[in-house]
Amino acid sequence: MSLHSESTDHWRVASPALRGAENAVPGCAYGGAVSSQRLRVNPIRDHVSESYDELELDFSPSIFSSLEKHLPMNMLNATRGDKLKYLRTILLDYLPPAARIRDQKYREYTQMILSNYKPLNKELYAMNPTAFFVPAFLKAISDNNEDSFRSIVSEPFPGIFTFEMLQPHFCELLLSEVESFERWAFKTKFQIIRPNTMNKYGTVLDDFGLQTMLAKLRENFISPLSKVFFAELGGSTLDAHHGFIVEYGKDRDIDLGFHVDDADITLNVCLGKEFCGGELFFRGMRCDKHINTESIAEEIFDYSHVPGQAVLHHGRHRHGARATTWGHRVNLVLWCRSSAFRELQRYKSDFSSWCNVCTRQKKERQRKTIDITSLDLFKWKGEATA
Ligand SMILES: [Zn+2]
Repeated sequence: MSLHSESTDHWRVASPALRGAENAVPGCAYGGAVSSQRLRVNPIRDHVSESYDELELDFSPSIFSSLEKHLPMNMLNATRGDKLKYLRTILLDYLPPAARIRDQKYREYTQMILSNYKPLNKELYAMNPTAFFVPAFLKAISDNNEDSFRSIVSEPFPGIFTFEMLQPHFCELLLSEVESFERWAFKTKFQIIRPNTMNKYGTVLDDFGLQTMLAKLRENFISPLSKVFFAELGGSTLDAHHGFIVEYGKDRDIDLGFHVDDADITLNVCLGKEFCGGELFFRGMRCDKHINTESIAEEIFDYSHVPGQAVLHHGRHRHGARATTWGHRVNLVLWCRSSAFRELQRYKSDFSSWCNVCTRQKKERQRKTIDITSLDLFKWKGEATA
């Protein structure tokens, strides 16, 4: 590895400190459920499923919509609440006991927050595009084509996209909401579960009621971009997220070691406030097998945060954050996941088209094959003319 001053450790995978159940059962199959509830093996294709999007659920709302087509006939016309209950009982049977206990604890944790914490800025909890985003970003998303996206997006390094995204007022509201939530937790001695295994400070936004708003952010604003820029890397099928705030500076995290995210696409937006340092450093895309391999000069890229500006990158693009040497830096991070992409990766463990080392090794093999073939051809020609 080309060692830099901050490289004191191997690359790590930053993963959620506690996985919300929306992440718990990608690829959950039907049939063989332990509960008395059953699903049909063959779906009723013309059944129009309900939307569960606006509900705070412990599994992805899209799982409920998909499974509805497999409900037995007597359940198809039940109320949405009854269908939800029925399907949830089945889904829980697929969780191993440890995950079920963790799921239950997580529900209790969020229930405790939702029934006791009073939101400070209610307007944050429902998606309001004109109040949240800068006009150029909104226009590009509504035009929804590569040219419109390219008109607002810079690609300062291959695979890293930056763009103006959030209104200053939205950043202020979100910062004050997070401060208010932390004040509430401090006052009531409520222990906050931090966003991932690497940050000691920070807050999971999904945990205190912002999950629905963030799902809309993922679906309607990030998915269109990632469909264009990361189509082959899970960007066209995002179906889950983990949204959180990270805080750096005095009395907060100072820096963040080298790691890859437990995400397929990562959105990272600086909310403020005033700070020095805190640059992101990127060091190349890697699969699991090559996660600890050295970087080469062409993979090195540093990025300085600007409040309101977003960075979009693949989760497997190795990165870290340098020390915030003065002030207070707060970022909104949305880890977006595609269960389809993850499922696909399980069957492609020998070669990843997006891993720089895998592709370098493949090119090297091809070069050797061409060299050998050329040599054989040369020898053959030589023999023929001798
Ligand atoms: Zn690789």
